[in-house]
Amino acid sequence: MLPSQVSLVVAGGGPAGFMAAITAAEGPGAAAGGEAAVVVLESTPEPLHKVLISGGGRCNVTHACWDPVALVGHYPRGGRALRGPFSRFATAESVAWFERRGLALVQEPDGRMFPSSQRSSSVVDTLRREAARAGVLLLTSEALQAAEALPGGGFQLRLRSGTLMRTTRLLLATGSHPSGHRLAVGLGHTVVPPVPSLFTLRLVDHPLVDLAGVVMDPAELELMTAGAPPRRHRQSGPLLITHWGLSGPTVLRLTAFAARDLKQAGYRGQLRVDWSGGRSLQQLQELFAELRRDQARKQLTNARPWPELSRRLWLHLLERLGVDGEQRWADLGRGPQEALIEALRASRYAVAGRGPFGEEFVTAGGIALGEVNLATMESRRQPGLYLAGEILDVDGVTGGFNFQHCWSSGWLAGQAIAAAGP
Ligand SMILES: Cc1cc2nc3c(=O)[nH]c(=O)nc-3n(C[C@H](O)[C@H](O)[C@H](O)COP(=O)(O)OP(=O)(O)OC[C@H]3O[C@@H](n4cnc5c(N)ncnc54)[C@H](O)[C@@H]3O)c2cc1C
Repeated sequence: MLPSQVSLVVAGGGPAGFMAAITAAEGPGAAAGGEAAVVVLESTPEPLHKVLISGGGRCNVTHACWDPVALVGHYPRGGRALRGPFSRFATAESVAWFERRGLALVQEPDGRMFPSSQRSSSVVDTLRREAARAGVLLLTSEALQAAEALPGGGFQLRLRSGTLMRTTRLLLATGSHPSGHRLAVGLGHTVVPPVPSLFTLRLVDHPLVDLAGVVMDPAELELMTAGAPPRRHRQSGPLLITHWGLSGPTVLRLTAFAARDLKQAGYRGQLRVDWSGGRSLQQLQELFAELRRDQARKQLTNARPWPELSRRLWLHLLERLGVDGEQRWADLGRGPQEALIEALRASRYAVAGRGPFGEEFVTAGGIALGEVNLATMESRRQPGLYLAGEILDVDGVTGGFNFQHCWSSGWLAGQAIAAAGP
């Protein structure tokens, strides 16, 4: 039986909602009179669904970036504003929070952290168990449909089932779902329009896609969006060629930072790729001179400039430039050499649109950060209203940063609610 008056209703049974509900329910002022003080409403039958499917079923819980100042650099939306929240609860605190509750996390060489079980269900089980232990009442297949602020404080809520209830505090943790945005707008907030983030790039018909599967690390990318005015974005790191264009962590990072500019440009632009592994023009010229001298009798196809340069990519560049790969290094003329060096340093590709999303999918946009007190996650527009997780105009690049923001904002909201009392 649902109590008609509670101290906190959390709309949204995702990671941010669970973290906030558990933290609030564990606080000193919780569970008044044996009644469920904290209620989580989840509109679907399955809470924490995204946690379950995340990280290819392993859940990339967070990223081993321990310095809050460095951490904020992974959030295209949020950025420096997150310094305060992360200085109170960030990676180290999240790892300790889960470990205290029996969920050990392990780090991969690239910094991503997963449950040691390598199963996202362990994260879901931990959060559900801790919520139940703290006395949180979870209602599934029940959505918050309307919320009205009461003149004397608190909220009158209408649920999808028609149930009416009152709560002293309301936390919106509905992710990017439009219903949460609508509820927040009804309570005085504005929404920065959502646009997709973390996607791959589709190239205009280009033979490069025949090299699907080739990874170059590092590659340097410079994207000039087609919008007016054009905007420049740069990233460097591992790049994967796919049968539609380009993918890999560096492309996802590029599209995350360029999300709004790309949207404005209709997902079109010019991409310059530096395949040279950071070599300068002079270094490449010296390298080619050495190759002409030391590999003089070898054919170009049989001696690529450096071992980490993919053989398939090297053959592709030779063919595209019409350079005879059968010729010996000693016979490579000045013109073809300059063309090859230019192609290694600055190959240009037309971006035709978005490719499929990576493993992670998030939306850029949401409730404007300036409207929220980031120390408590309480609304500056409506006392007693809190917001956490992806509903906010915060998003991270791929690698566990999005969940990290959910743990941080959820914990801060839960703490502030617990401190405020029943
Ligand atoms: C396939 C995939 C893989 C991902 N992998 C990773 C990863 O490995 N690492 C990472 O950091 N991030 C990952 N992400 C991103 C991450 O899942 C999200 O950033 C995160 O789930 C946001 O959490 P949230 O609690 O704010 O919202 P959500 O997880 O979206 O939860 C919100 C919940 O609210 C419910 N809801 C909506 N409206 C209402 C309403 N009116 N009433 C009641 N309930 C409502 C929804 O059903 C949902 O369950 C991934 C995302 C996807 C889609």
